[in-house]
Amino acid sequence: VKSSELPVGVPDVNVETEPFWTGIRERRLVLPFCESCADYVWYPRSFCPKCGLSRPPWRETSGRGTVYAFTVVHRSPLEAWRTCTPFIIALVELAEGPRVLTNIVGCDPGQVHIDMEVEAVFESGEAGSVIYRFAPCEGRGE
Ligand SMILES: [Zn+2]
Repeated sequence: VKSSELPVGVPDVNVETEPFWTGIRERRLVLPFCESCADYVWYPRSFCPKCGLSRPPWRETSGRGTVYAFTVVHRSPLEAWRTCTPFIIALVELAEGPRVLTNIVGCDPGQVHIDMEVEAVFESGEAGSVIYRFAPCEGRGE
């Protein structure tokens, strides 16, 4: 999947989210996994919000999921995004459970639908930052 035209911001990396963004730079989606709850922790942080476990270990996910909900943005209040409309803001449910707010790229906005199978794609910004978005699993390699 080629890079979208959407702006690539600089992620807010802190001591809690550093392993997550390191994973993103390595083109991997890694999340904290709490063994006692048998569940991934989203958003990334240094404790399990269900049981309070400190520093759950990081585990790589499949990077795949399905579109849970989405909206087509036709008018953006943000200057940098204004020229990119229409674009998709979506809630993607990862195969592992967590629901992630993201953009769907790599297809026409009109093709996006609920339950569409998507996978993480990684886009680089000018400042060397790397972020993740999601694109359809089908139709890869153009
Ligand atoms: Zn837990």
